[in-house]
Amino acid sequence: MKQVKCPNCGASMEIQDNRNFAFCSYCGTKIIVNEVVQINRENEINNLLNRAYEYELKHDYAKARDYCNKVLDIDSNNEFARALEKRLDSASPINNVIIKYNSLINEKFKLRITLDGITWHTIEPNGEISLCLPIGSHFILFAGRKKTYRKKIDVLDSKKTITITYIAKSWHSNEIKVE
Ligand SMILES: [Zn+2]
Repeated sequence: MKQVKCPNCGASMEIQDNRNFAFCSYCGTKIIVNEVVQINRENEINNLLNRAYEYELKHDYAKARDYCNKVLDIDSNNEFARALEKRLDSASPINNVIIKYNSLINEKFKLRITLDGITWHTIEPNGEISLCLPIGSHFILFAGRKKTYRKKIDVLDSKKTITITYIAKSWHSNEIKVE
């Protein structure tokens, strides 16, 4: 037997496993099994939705989407999950890491940044870039005129901004500050 809820009056009833539809014994509405959510999955759906909302609040949109999809796998008509899906589509990730390049010496050399060994960025002297990095450790390489500097940063909170400043102090000395 499958437990279902009448989409019209909300009454609970059971339908035999070999049947695809039944008529509600209270209001007479035809209940098609594939179109209604089975009652025993409502708690599961609510838990998954709450998890999705938690991640949405933390701006961790990838995880929010994972949980949203889990809800839609169970109930593709879930209006809360569909509304969340729309919000996630329009949510822009917040840049939480700013890398600044301060030149005190009229440096013309462009600073080359490698992020986690893959992504390259170039910053003009006295310019900056903003990035959105997920929670976790990240390795940043600063390729300056003379030397390459390596810095590890830990993103603990995706909403808190970390500012990294590469300062070209003299032709031989550079400094990296993390705030
Ligand atoms: Zn009914």
